[in-house]
Amino acid sequence: MSGQHHPCADILAAYASGLLEPGFGLVVAAHVEGCAHCRAQVVRFEAHSGAALRDLDGASLGEDALSRVMARLDDAPAPDLALDRRPLMERLSLKPRKWVAPGVWVAAVETPHARTNRVYVLSVAPGMPTARHEHSGAEFCTVLKGAYRDELGLFRAGDFASADHDVNHQPVVQGDEACVCLFATEGRLQPQGLLGRLAFAYADV
Ligand SMILES: [Zn+2]
Repeated sequence: MSGQHHPCADILAAYASGLLEPGFGLVVAAHVEGCAHCRAQVVRFEAHSGAALRDLDGASLGEDALSRVMARLDDAPAPDLALDRRPLMERLSLKPRKWVAPGVWVAAVETPHARTNRVYVLSVAPGMPTARHEHSGAEFCTVLKGAYRDELGLFRAGDFASADHDVNHQPVVQGDEACVCLFATEGRLQPQGLLGRLAFAYADV
């Protein structure tokens, strides 16, 4: 997996500091494990926050602090998730799939997350419309398989997308395989018209 769409620096910094809500962190992890560029940034942020903590402790960094940090960057291990080499899709613990329309299924992910949030995998077959929707809160998404296109561009396996209440979009599956995405959403989606059953399924995840 290598992506064209990456989390912004603020999201990566929050992820590296362990500040993201766990469900949202999982979606970022799904991107980061396949993206060397973002992995390097995460390691850098972790090194910075470690250095900041040492500063707070009043400990002396010593003259070789910078070279030690740089050395750590060079031989930094990949994040824990990458220890298991199976694709993330196989490592996710999913509740039973619910078919919500021909070619469309959704399955909640069994992972720690805030009760008000939802973490789920959505699979949409080629040619199936998705519900145009607005967001009442943040939404993170990493494409696990296949591809979709919306107003923001083409998103393929490994790509990361985030949206908030400013975004009103209707993704369309590209290519000839189902598009499978891992989502974390905050609050409720607000579907407009199409595929009300899909919206119902979202609400039930
Ligand atoms: Zn990336």
